[in-house]
Amino acid sequence: MKIGAYSLHALELGTFGLDGGAMFGIVPKMLWQKENPADEENRIHMHTRGLLLKDAKSGRNILVDCGLGDKDDAKFKDRYKIAPYALDGELAKHGLTPDNITDVIATHFHFDHMGGLTRLDEAGKLVPRFPKAKLWAQKRNWAHAWNPNEKDRASYLTQNYALYESDSRLELVDGEEEILPGIFTRVTEGHTVGMQHPFISDGTSSLLYCADIIPMSAHVRTAWVMGYDCYPLTTIEEKKKILREATEKETVIFFEHCPYTPGARVEWSGKDYRIKEKVAL
Ligand SMILES: [Zn+2]
Repeated sequence: MKIGAYSLHALELGTFGLDGGAMFGIVPKMLWQKENPADEENRIHMHTRGLLLKDAKSGRNILVDCGLGDKDDAKFKDRYKIAPYALDGELAKHGLTPDNITDVIATHFHFDHMGGLTRLDEAGKLVPRFPKAKLWAQKRNWAHAWNPNEKDRASYLTQNYALYESDSRLELVDGEEEILPGIFTRVTEGHTVGMQHPFISDGTSSLLYCADIIPMSAHVRTAWVMGYDCYPLTTIEEKKKILREATEKETVIFFEHCPYTPGARVEWSGKDYRIKEKVAL
């Protein structure tokens, strides 16, 4: 897919599993398991899918979210059924290494989105995985990552971002703005404080990186909201706005966690939102 100066590529960074009940909140298992069958521990199959934006002219290689990374111990990997981190192979398909990434956009600092930001070197020392990249974070989410609430504390692991605390590569964004040419951030508050969503648009075509506001294609239904969300009613209002706009503008919705659908256009059925057509990325 191309939008403006950018070619867009989904990067399959690795799979994991989260409790299906937590992923679908109040929705009965009888309904969610049709699309997302659970394993013996009630975990559903999920992807961590980053988005690479390549601009050949400017030489920018922008990465939105970077998955779980590879720092986790065996117990953590087992609990969340974490598969090996696939970033290097995915970048290699596009002739790139982590050194070629010029910008990383963090939607929010939950471990399954930004665990890949740091790695352990041969000596076991924590180092940035993308040494030449700027890190674009939303100011309120950055503050929240250092002082999370009781509900989402377990998802903010400081080893993933502490290196950037007083680092000139950190670019804090305060609200909604065009952070890079043709890349506008949208901000939501329902899932966690100050989550940002890159909206890539050239005025005709557009794509919205939904991160955890609409994590999987099953979540396009208005009331299908995660149990993980800090403020679920806020999520519902924010989803309605996003889906209404996406329907009007034919925006491609990018699903970071869906194993079956990387991207899609949506429509209103008369009762609720649904997938209109899948889009290859
Ligand atoms: Zn999250």
